[in-house]
Amino acid sequence: MLSTILYGPRDIRVEHRDTPKILEPTDAIIRIAVSCVCGSDLWPYRGIQPTKEPTPMGHEYCGVVEDVGSAVKTLKPGQFVIGSFFASDNTCPHCHNGYQTSCQNREFVGGAQAPLLRVPLADGTLVPTPNMPTEDLLPSLLSLSDVMGTGWFAADAANVKHGSTVAVVGDGAVGLLGILSAKIKGAERIIAMSRHVSRQKIARAFGATDIVEERGEAGIERIKEATRGVGADSVLECVGTQESMMQAVRSVRPGGYVGYVGVPHGVELQGEQLFFAHVHLHGGPAPVRRYLPDLIKLVFERQIDPGKVFDREVPLDRVAEAYRAMDERRAIKVLLRP
Ligand SMILES: [Zn+2]
Repeated sequence: MLSTILYGPRDIRVEHRDTPKILEPTDAIIRIAVSCVCGSDLWPYRGIQPTKEPTPMGHEYCGVVEDVGSAVKTLKPGQFVIGSFFASDNTCPHCHNGYQTSCQNREFVGGAQAPLLRVPLADGTLVPTPNMPTEDLLPSLLSLSDVMGTGWFAADAANVKHGSTVAVVGDGAVGLLGILSAKIKGAERIIAMSRHVSRQKIARAFGATDIVEERGEAGIERIKEATRGVGADSVLECVGTQESMMQAVRSVRPGGYVGYVGVPHGVELQGEQLFFAHVHLHGGPAPVRRYLPDLIKLVFERQIDPGKVFDREVPLDRVAEAYRAMDERRAIKVLLRP
């Protein structure tokens, strides 16, 4: 089968690889319906997070169960399923507490930018949809595998509630879906930080009420002005740089919450600054598995359309174009058809 392999900085190739096989009795093999490129795939692609050997890429997926191992109890071939980028048993104490991305038996799921994928701990990881989805639902269902679940976690970790004033740092797919999540959770005001007109448009469609184009000091000033000098109740940090993290910590009101989901690169927080900020900080790799049942329901009832973040689509054999378009910020998120 054709599989996406990263060889080194900006050297992404599509190659023939062996089809994945059941290795453990708890595995499933799924036939990918659609996959995509993640913002976090761009870190190794840019060489900022170097890969030691050729690496199969892709960790966002949905598709049809093709085969299951002998110990798999709840799934059978033919079911349409979605899973998270971390496989989890869904039975250990951390899973029970809703932190499946910290599962004691977690395993990263890689190689989803391909037609077939091996998913470990299938019973705990994969959630079936109520029935076979129609084609138009696929982008939204795919988004639940990572970006929508991550945006939802950002809003959850930032304690977004009915009537909250929310600021969202980052206008990538996760930031945009953080806006959608805040809207569904009943936020009254949602301030999107974005300087790209096309992204501002989606931000507004998802529920942003205000747009702030400034960054750094000026951006913090604008949030303060917009909140009568108080600061936001909740800030969603969806980038992962020092600037974006400080933007978040300094835009929140005393006693407010920062939900941070951007994978940090070179972020350092100073104790004294944190001490005087009076801020709740919660974040990390989103426990997407916890949210899948509810989010699948919302997509099937057509209450949300998170698939709108895919503004481009390419066939798998042209995956290099997808990486280039996202690297150059010509696309928000690119959908791949195997
Ligand atoms: Zn677990």
